[in-house]
Order: sequence, then structure tokens, then C-alpha cells
Amino acid sequence: MEYEAVIGLETHVQLKTRSKMWCGCANDYGAPPNTHVCPVCLGLPGVLPVPNEQALRLTALTGLLLNCEIPAFAKFDRKNYFYPDSPKNYQITQYDRPSTQGGFLEFEFGDGLRRVRITRAHLEEDVGKNQHFERHSGVDFNRAGVPLLEIVSEPDLTGPDEAQAYLNALIEVLVRGGISDCDLEKGMVRCDVNVSVRPKGTTGLGAKIEIKNMNTFSGVRRALEYEIPRQIAAVGRGEVLRQQTRRWDEVAGITEEMRSKEDAQDYRYLPDPDLLPLMPEPGWLAVVRTLVPELPLARKQRLIRDYGLPAGAAEVLKSNVALGDFFEASAKGFGNPKGIANYVINNLSGSLAQSGLELSQVRFRPAALQELVGMVDAGRIHSSAAQEVFAEMFATGEAPEAIVERKGLAQVNDTGAIELICDEVIAANPGPAADFRGGKPAALNFLKGQVMKRSQGKANPALAGALLERKLRG
Ligand code: ADP
Ligand code: MG
Ligand code: ZN
Repeated sequence: MEYEAVIGLETHVQLKTRSKMWCGCANDYGAPPNTHVCPVCLGLPGVLPVPNEQALRLTALTGLLLNCEIPAFAKFDRKNYFYPDSPKNYQITQYDRPSTQGGFLEFEFGDGLRRVRITRAHLEEDVGKNQHFERHSGVDFNRAGVPLLEIVSEPDLTGPDEAQAYLNALIEVLVRGGISDCDLEKGMVRCDVNVSVRPKGTTGLGAKIEIKNMNTFSGVRRALEYEIPRQIAAVGRGEVLRQQTRRWDEVAGITEEMRSKEDAQDYRYLPDPDLLPLMPEPGWLAVVRTLVPELPLARKQRLIRDYGLPAGAAEVLKSNVALGDFFEASAKGFGNPKGIANYVINNLSGSLAQSGLELSQVRFRPAALQELVGMVDAGRIHSSAAQEVFAEMFATGEAPEAIVERKGLAQVNDTGAIELICDEVIAANPGPAADFRGGKPAALNFLKGQVMKRSQGKANPALAGALLERKLRG
């Protein structure tokens, strides 16, 4: 029998706030251990949590970015468990009434679009970090109480590569929306991977195996590449798989059992009596709605539709917002947006990378780029001269027209002058000239190249080609 994989992801993302979720301590990565702590985030007796409004806003915004409903009523619950990095002995989370639910994420995969349903994105808090030394262990509570969003997908994913594409698309959206920096190296994104297998074509769900706490996307892919065949082989042997939590061993490249999965009742969820329910007002939500930006995929599709850009160019311009903005400002109302895109993607981003400058520090305005491409299109300068003009524009901010004048880069459209050069080239290259006359059209390109060279790139190439051909055909 053939089997297929069913995958659902729970993705934890640290929100980009200045302070923690329930106290005023800094939400700051990399400080010395236990320097951003207070009685609230240390869970000392008698303290009360105060919700971080920015975190509530970012949660609602995430809901909108992921096409979720924002329920008129949500609440916080306590999830009880006992672990050294959890100072209160419970985590504040949202159990049955989350702040957002019922959305979807669309992303490109293979040569099509995929839509994965989002069950919910709910708000909770991060825990501290255990550190193990040679003879003792320590806990750093700087991270305890940092606002954390858990984004739960429906089991709509079907394979390792698709899961990775989903995660990449998800963080692209979150970064674009200013929800999180999603810096994986700083542990800002962590993922629980749920996977089961079932006979291909059936709709029931097999026993769910959860692989905990993955902190790289390539790890997610590799864990799935291991786990799916493992499950298929087990089922093929007639084994009955049970719900289970497993750990990914990065070094060995295998998953191994941690525990049989606990149930919701093990956590003894209860509504947090210290926190009021959340009932977002329409006016507040309307303000959040104004924060919704154009998302990367939508921008890519629009760049292809409105400017006729090839998918590759649109892809580059969607992932770099500032570059895309610069492109649009230059291409607006211009007849050759593809030409502009070439200069933005190749020359501009190349020069930025080389110089280490930010786009905001670029000395010329988008209108100058339009002028440059306009001159190439009108045959005023040759495209090789345009490279030189661009470099000069980038270095000094001087207008392209002025650079062309000053450096004498204007293309020669003077038939008489080009004709003279053509005569010289034909005389100097009798072999290729004879080849062309003997029926080898490719020889013309060589001769044209020689004319361009002798004119120092200034001859109008189309004119040079036409004149050469006329002379050779006699
Ligand atoms: P729990 O309450 O144990 O966290 P949920 O039912 O809420 O479990 O699901 C958590 C995640 O597991 C979701 O992303 C969901 O899509 C996924 N999931 C649920 N059942 C399965 C299954 N049988 N196979 C694969 N993924 C599953
Ligand atoms: Mg879970
Ligand atoms: Zn604190």
C-alpha cells in the first residue's frame, strides 16, 4: 500500500516589542543572564501582570496578515506545568478563546500556489533558558515573559519541502508586517512539527507524532525526511503507531521518543483570574487594520501584472521592500519598466552591496534612473556607456545627462563618421568580410564588434550594422 504524509506546524514567534508581555523589563536578546528581570517575570508572590498593548496590537495584526477572524472575545488562561525555566509554574497562554482564528497563508510552491489553513494565532509568553555547566545548571530568566505568538496550522502540509516553503513564507509575512524580526539564530522562531501518515488518498488522520522545539527550517525538513519513512516502514510492518512526542537529534540525524504525549487535562488549564478578557473595540481594530502592508506575494504578483516583469525579477524586488519601492518610483509612467528593473537589480543592488551603503543613502533619485534608461532606449548612449554613467551617478549623484556631456559618451549617430570607421574595419578584416559575402551572416557581428571597438563604444550599433551590411553587399 502507498502512504502519504500529513503535517501540521505549531510555530512560536517572539514579538517585536520593547518590553515583555506582563512587565516593563526589556525584551532584549543577548544581555548578561538575569539582568532583565523583575518580581513579575520572576513569578514572585503577590505580583500582578499588566498586558503589553503593543503585543496585543501585533497579535491582531498577525491575524489580519494571515486572513484570520479576530473574535470579539478572547481570554488568557494558565497552563500549569513544573519546569525550572518556568518561574510561575504556569504559562499564561490562550486556551479555548484565542485572539485570532480561522485564517490561511498562501505561498508559492513548485510551479503553483499553495494555501495552508491557519487554525489560530494565539498570544502567550516565553520561558527562561536553562544552561548546563560542568558541575551545575543555571537558569537565565531574561527571556521569561517575552511575548510569544503561537501560530498553529491545520494539517494541510504534505511533505518536507512544502513544510519548509510554508515556514519561509510565514516569516516573510511576519517580518514584512513588523511582527517579529524572526531571527532564527537568536531563537526568535521555534517550531513543533506534527506528522502522521495514512494510506494515500484517504482522508482520516493517523496517530500524530510531535517533534518538539525545532529551531532551524532545514532541521524541520531533515526531521521530516527521517520521520516520514520511519512511520511508513513501521505501519508497513503492521505496527500500530501511538500519539507520541519525539526529539530531533541533529547530530545523529534521527528522531527519538521523549514521552507519550500529554493531554490537555494534564495541564489543568484555567482562566487567568488576574487578567481581564480581551474585547477589542472596533475603533482599536480599525487602527490595527491601517498597519496592514502589501504582502510580499501580493507585491510580486502585482509587479508581474502591472509592469510585465519576469517572475525572477519580481521575486528579487518583492523580498527587498526598499529596492522594490525604488523600482516602482523609477518605473512609474515609464515605457520600459523591464529596463529599469535590470538597472535596479543588477547595477543598483550590486553597487549597494559593494559600497555597503543603504538605499536611503543613494545619491541619485529614481527620476535620474529613468533618465538614464530613457537615454539608452532612445539611442543617445550605448548600453556599455550606460554602465559607466551609472557608476558615476552612484558615486557622485551627478545627473546622467551631465555625465554624458562631460565625458563625451553620447552615441555617434552621424552616418558619415560611422561610415568612415566601417570602411577602415572592412579593410583591416578581409577574412571576415569575405566570409560574410560568402554567406556567413555571423561574420557581420564580428565586424560590428570591431566598429564598436574603434568608436570606443560610441557608434550607434544598429546604424553600424546597417551600414556594414550595405557596404559588404556592395
Ligand atoms: P494539541 O492539542 O495536542 O496541540 P492539536 O490538535 O491542536 O493538538 O494540533 C496541533 C498541531 O498538530 C496542529 O498544527 C495540527 O494541524 C497538527 N495535527 C493534528 N492532528 C494531526 C495529525 N493526525 N497528523 C499531523 N498533524 C496533526
Ligand atoms: Mg501542541
Ligand atoms: Zn520583568
